[in-house]
Amino acid sequence: MYSMPLFRPPSEARSLIIQITEGCSHNKCRFCYMYKHKQFRLKSWQEITEHIAALKSYYHEPERIFLADGNVLCLKTEELIKLLEYIKREFPYAQRISSYSGPLDLIRKTDEELKLIREAGLELLYMGVESGSDRVLTIMQKGVSQKQMIEAGQKAMKAGFKFSCMIISGLGGTEHMKEHALDSAKVISAINPNYFSLLRLVVEEDSDLAEDIRQGKFHLLTPLQILDENIMMLENMELDNCIFRANHVSNYVNQAGVLNKDKDALIERLKKFRNSSNFIPMGNDRL
Ligand code: SF4
Repeated sequence: MYSMPLFRPPSEARSLIIQITEGCSHNKCRFCYMYKHKQFRLKSWQEITEHIAALKSYYHEPERIFLADGNVLCLKTEELIKLLEYIKREFPYAQRISSYSGPLDLIRKTDEELKLIREAGLELLYMGVESGSDRVLTIMQKGVSQKQMIEAGQKAMKAGFKFSCMIISGLGGTEHMKEHALDSAKVISAINPNYFSLLRLVVEEDSDLAEDIRQGKFHLLTPLQILDENIMMLENMELDNCIFRANHVSNYVNQAGVLNKDKDALIERLKKFRNSSNFIPMGNDRL
């Protein structure tokens, strides 16, 4: 029914996943293994409708729907609107439709197109910012600049999407830790998304970054450096009513709150762990 592997954000664990595209059109980020062995392609209308018909026999009344894989927004606007209308007809009880959004896909659409897509029923978008630092984005071959990340995020917010951004803690390595923290805070603050998630870098054997580490080109942060970086990032965030989560399995300290309202308390809590002799890092380090 699906072309595997299949990914979705943690908050979509209970959603019906409809696979509209396969893979990621970029597929070059050094830390990412997700779609490494998958060729990017757009599925035909016939394939999508057959896929939906097959899913319908298992999932009758899903309340939430997530459109996969990586680049659903690369569909032409009129096709995406037709698709959203079809999905709403097939699953009339769905209360929320969401998807990943590539920054360049967002930039390519006009404000008017994004507004039409939002009105057609796509409600929540997730964007992997990963880092706000141009240097780190370049090293990681993200293919997007700091300026483009901000532009993409601001366009999504302006069009009325609920918008969720993600930063990878530790992605600057020891060399660019400070720049990663400060510039990531700058980009997230400029976008002011509805949701901001902070995950920690976990290096998969299969990724290019694993090879960089073996060759001594990239140095992972220690658990205490991760906490120092997280503190620096939060200290420099200026957000209004943004739901913050760092409660992924990768995080050393589980954090949740609303920024900036809970900023001081979140920082104090991190400092408490940072300075405690009882701090034992949890999380699943692969290397
Ligand atoms: S991080 Fe996102 S854009 Fe980069 S290769 Fe992975 S799926 Fe594609």
